[in-house]
Amino acid sequence: MTHAIQPKPGVLEIAPYVGGESKLPGARDVVKLSSNENPFGPSDSVREAIRKSVHSLHRYPSTDHGPLRRAIGEVHGLDPERIICGNGSDEIISMLCQAYGGPGHEVIHTEHGFGMYRISALAAGAAPIEVREHERKVDVDAIIEACNFRTRLVFIANPGNPTGTMIGSNEVGRLAAELPAHVLLVLDGAYAEYVEDFDGGAKLVDKRDNVFMTRTFSKIYGLGGLRIGWGYGPAHVIDALNRVRGPFNLSELQMAAAEAALRDQDHVERCRAENARMRTWMAKALAEIGVPSDTSCANFVLARFDDTAQADACEAHLRDEGLIVRKMGGYKLPNCLRITVGDEASCRRVVHAISNFKETRG
Ligand SMILES: *Cc1c(COP(=O)(O)O)cnc(C)c1O
Repeated sequence: MTHAIQPKPGVLEIAPYVGGESKLPGARDVVKLSSNENPFGPSDSVREAIRKSVHSLHRYPSTDHGPLRRAIGEVHGLDPERIICGNGSDEIISMLCQAYGGPGHEVIHTEHGFGMYRISALAAGAAPIEVREHERKVDVDAIIEACNFRTRLVFIANPGNPTGTMIGSNEVGRLAAELPAHVLLVLDGAYAEYVEDFDGGAKLVDKRDNVFMTRTFSKIYGLGGLRIGWGYGPAHVIDALNRVRGPFNLSELQMAAAEAALRDQDHVERCRAENARMRTWMAKALAEIGVPSDTSCANFVLARFDDTAQADACEAHLRDEGLIVRKMGGYKLPNCLRITVGDEASCRRVVHAISNFKETRG
């Protein structure tokens, strides 16, 4: 039945976001490797910061996120005046679409790009435009070709999710330089910390006035449950986003936790090293049993199976073993499973289970 009261165009085209599953009814010792979470969780100092902040829950939070922006600026060597904080980087993506995308506008994302770009574009009333990738890698020329007078935003994640692949800074620089002047390039750096000596594109932001970078505390900082992200961009973009941002979009508890997490870079370094060690091990062990993957620059491996039926059967087998991984049909990679790099025991368990699957049914 259609109602007389209708949402604006675009809203009902949104297929609700499906997160990674976290429970298997009846199963014990369940390991969740479906949402790219840090298996080690946040730094211990985060718990202490949260304990302290519970004493001021009756107070409204600061509206300008000053202390957190200054901490981010110090740790990353960035201008705090050009940082904006959000309720997860999802909120930053949403603010970008609200500020720059509307009816008659186009928002570009790539073939296997993160699902929130399309959702946020539609919610803003803009048209999401999907551009092909080349063998699971962002194709700069295809993006430039897809631009027209309606294009307002281009979103690419580097490293990408769910592909785990990256394009080099020369390619990103070329994309920024060749986009039409009215298009803002957004570099989603959710996995930037997993790449050694990588700034996520911050230097390019400093050099140009058409590039914006998003970052998150949900991945290497182990704080997906608290919802904290941030963006860095030209002053004119930060100004526009601050106008659409809700004044109290972050609680003091979130800000205190994020600042404590940021101040413990030793924890970040340990997590990065352990992730790289287990990622290499897992990719090699899978390749040896006939399950290839592209070299991943993030905290997951995109395992490729012979076909969709084999990937689905393997996922069902893993599920029976209490192991949750992510099916990729929604990302146009139906023959793949995305497996988050867990701790060593989880990585060994998942590889062992896939190996059994391949021997008996693969
Ligand atoms: C996980 C992820 C995010 C992070 O979202 P938050 O809202 O910060 O939790 C952003 N972009 C990509 C590509 C991701 O995979």
